[in-house]
Parts: sequence; C-alpha cells; structure tokens
Amino acid sequence: MRKRFTTALMVLALLYALTLTALAAGPNGTLSVQLYSWSQHTYTPASAEVVKLTLNGEALEGDVPAMIRDGRTLVPVRLVGEALQAQVLWVQQTGQVILTGGEGVIVLTLDSATALVNGVPTPLPDGVPAQVISYGGADRTMIPLRFVSEALGAQVEWDQTTYTAHLTAELPETAPEPPEEEPETPAQEPEVPDGVTRITGMSWENGALTISADRSPNCKVTDLGDRVAIDFLNAALGEDFSSCAVDDPYLSGVRYAQHGADFYPGSDYTVRIVLDLAAGAAAAGNLTVTATASGVTVSTHAAPVTQPSEPVDPQDFTIVIDPGHGGDRPGACYEDIMEKDIDLAISLKLVTILQNCGYQVIMTRSTDVEVGLYERADLANAAGADVFVSIHANAAENRPDYQGIYTYYHPSSNRGARLAQAIQTPLCQITGAVDRGIKDADFVVLRETEMCAVLVETGFMTNHEELMNLNEDSYQQLVAQGIARGIIDYLNAEAQTAA
Ligand SMILES: [Zn+2]
Repeated sequence: MRKRFTTALMVLALLYALTLTALAAGPNGTLSVQLYSWSQHTYTPASAEVVKLTLNGEALEGDVPAMIRDGRTLVPVRLVGEALQAQVLWVQQTGQVILTGGEGVIVLTLDSATALVNGVPTPLPDGVPAQVISYGGADRTMIPLRFVSEALGAQVEWDQTTYTAHLTAELPETAPEPPEEEPETPAQEPEVPDGVTRITGMSWENGALTISADRSPNCKVTDLGDRVAIDFLNAALGEDFSSCAVDDPYLSGVRYAQHGADFYPGSDYTVRIVLDLAAGAAAAGNLTVTATASGVTVSTHAAPVTQPSEPVDPQDFTIVIDPGHGGDRPGACYEDIMEKDIDLAISLKLVTILQNCGYQVIMTRSTDVEVGLYERADLANAAGADVFVSIHANAAENRPDYQGIYTYYHPSSNRGARLAQAIQTPLCQITGAVDRGIKDADFVVLRETEMCAVLVETGFMTNHEELMNLNEDSYQQLVAQGIARGIIDYLNAEAQTAA
C-alpha cells in the first residue's frame, strides 16, 4: 500500500516536471539576452521566451521582441507605447520612462517594482520592474506588458498555446500628431501676440551653442536618446531668426521648428530646437543645457569618468524634511493657494520616495501646524540627521513673469553648496523648470542646523503657470522625485569620498 502510494507520488512528480519543461520552452523559441542592472552598471546573461504580440489583430513587431522574464511578459516600451499612441519620454538621468496617454501619466523607474500612475505609487505585478534588456546588440527598456497596456486603456488576452499576447485598444481613426520635429521650417506664424517670447537667434562658438531670446524663456529639455529637444513654451521664432552650423564631436546638427497650439498643452506657440547627437554621444554625459536670463546655452564636453561606487546602506542615513510655514503662518498666498499647503504636499511625496528607498526620514511637521524656525533646526540637530532639506515656494510680487527653481545653502557650508547643486540639477531636469541656480543665504534653518542643509524654492507662486504646476499632484511628484534623486546622489557621492 505504502509502496504504491510512493509510486503514484513519483509519477505525479514526473508529470509535473514534464509539464514545467513543456511550459519553459515556448513555441516561439528562446533568446539569449543580457540583463542590465541600472544601479550596478553590469550585464548578466539570461534566457527568455519569445512572445508574439498583436494589436487589434495585426502583428506588432520591433527589433527586440517581447519576452517572458520571471513569469511576466516584458515588451520594449517604445514599441507598445507608440502603438497605443502614448507619448514616450526616456529620462536618462533618472532611469525613468514617462508614458503619457489618454488615461494619464505613468512613470516607470528602471529596476523599481513601484510605478507612479497619475502620481500614485502603484506596485508592479509580481514585483517585476521595468528593466533594460540587451539583445542582438540593442539595449531596450522593457516594461511589463499587461500593467502598462491596461494603464493606457488597452485589453490584453494571453494565448498560452502560441505564446501570443493579443492587445485590443480603441485607437482614434487619425492618430494625434506626435510632437515630432519638422526639419528647417521657416517661421510663418502671422500675428503672434506681444506677450510671447521671441527666439531671436542661434550662434555657435567654442563648443557652445547659444540660443537667444528677448527675455528669460520657459523651456523644457527632453532627452530623446539620439537627440535632445529643447522646447520653448509660449515662444515664437523672431523675424530675423537664423540657424547656425555646429562643428562639434558630440553634435551632428541642429534643427528648429515653430509649432502651434496642438504641440504642447497650454502653450499656443512652441519653438522646438532639436540637437542631433553624434554617434556615441549621450545627452546625459556630453551636454549641459543651461537657461539664462536671455536664452539657453548648450555646452558639450567629454563624459565625466565615473568610478563604480560601493553600495551605500540607506538605513545608515537620517534625512530631515522641513515643509515651510504651517498653521497660522501660511507663507505666500496667491489665487487662494497657500504656500504652506504646497510645501507640505511636496514634502509628503518626497518622504514617501526616500522611505521607499530605505532612508530614515523625519519631518519637522507632517500636518498643518506652526513650528518655529529654531525649533526646526533643534529637532534636526537632536536627531543627529545627516541632511536637512527645507521645502518652500517663491514669490516675486512685481515680476509675475519670473519662473524657476533656486536652491539655497549657508555661505559657510561647502557641503551645503554641494548638496544644493546635487539637488538643483536633477530637479530642473525632471520638472523642466527654469534653472535659476544655487545661491547662498543666511536663513535660520541653514545657519542653525549642524548637518548639511539646503532650502529649495520650488517655483514662483506669482507666476500663474508655475503656480498651477505647483498646485498639481503630478508636478509635485516630479519635484519630489528630483529632490530625492539629488539627496541620494549627494549621500552616495559623499560616502564615496569618505571611503
Ligand atoms: Zn516659504
């Protein structure tokens, strides 16, 4: 009896093993791929089963196929994103993919099992993150198919026998024009209103491109992989605008185009200037884009040599986040929006990100209460914090045209200046806000804190457009991500220097 039972178990186990083998070898073949670790900068060989894709019954194919990894179907982000008529942005500096579709905004971070869907942190199924997979010499950012498709309003049906994922989506008959640049379009917009920024010219000198405007422009910089787009919002090409030739090892050309109201939400006139990168050049390493009071400067340089860094344990660091004002002290107030509320909303999002990364985080206030400036510094000192970051929003009563971000540090603190710059750069890149630079100031919270401390002025409440951004959940999330990225980079860099 016992023996027969054992035999039956063995047969079952064998059958189960056979089934697993049959499942593991998919009908479309197996690929040898390399998995890239964004944090470690290493490739690891792996194998993956090929998955076929269809969209509304038509085959959907890219140079790197969809594949199964860890039980989840991963697809190249650009292939599926563009097929579903979403806008796909790749932010090299932060390893993030931003998909903008009819249903909203999805932000996926490489190697992170949490996505942001309309600003809300959302776990990815089975914890399988967006990841870079290299196949046939091409590196592709791969994203979980079902999660992203459904977030973009498509349905997915899985056919186990053919390893095919069938996507169904209602797509508009005529696809909305993707904001692609048209080469060398001369300006021909009639009757551009006076309030619109004029882009007056472009010149190339000593490895730097200067784009001139008649005032401080509002521009967004987007890393598009083999090219970089600089969008000047509410801007038009001036009558005498002319392009220039570039002669540079990192740039192969520069193009420009005037766009209308259909190009960028909220901007009736947008000038897009596209910098085509030379083979092997990368926006993140070789270009620096700086907004100035009279335009934008783009300089090129060799990529900085980065040392492979020792992993740092986030648990070892305590970060104090200090939302400005509170209670009976609302800070600035414009259009019925109070600074204390903006400061707190951004701070809460920032704290969540830092805690998710494993850091110890303390807030000087987490609700709408008044806390004294000296009390805030005392709290951080008592906690023995490593970093103190105060969050504020700016106001310039008589300059409603002022936009952009400042990060302040105390004049006596070199590490404060380093943290300020570490935050300022990714923060402006991620938000696309005007970079007004870092500044020193003798603020109480910067002077009385014993650790490295900065104060971020996240934008101007006196500028209607920026105020609307600051009051919006999804923009606050971008601000929080930018600041978090800066804090983490700073702590890693300091740990590296100390080692
Ligand atoms: Zn303030």
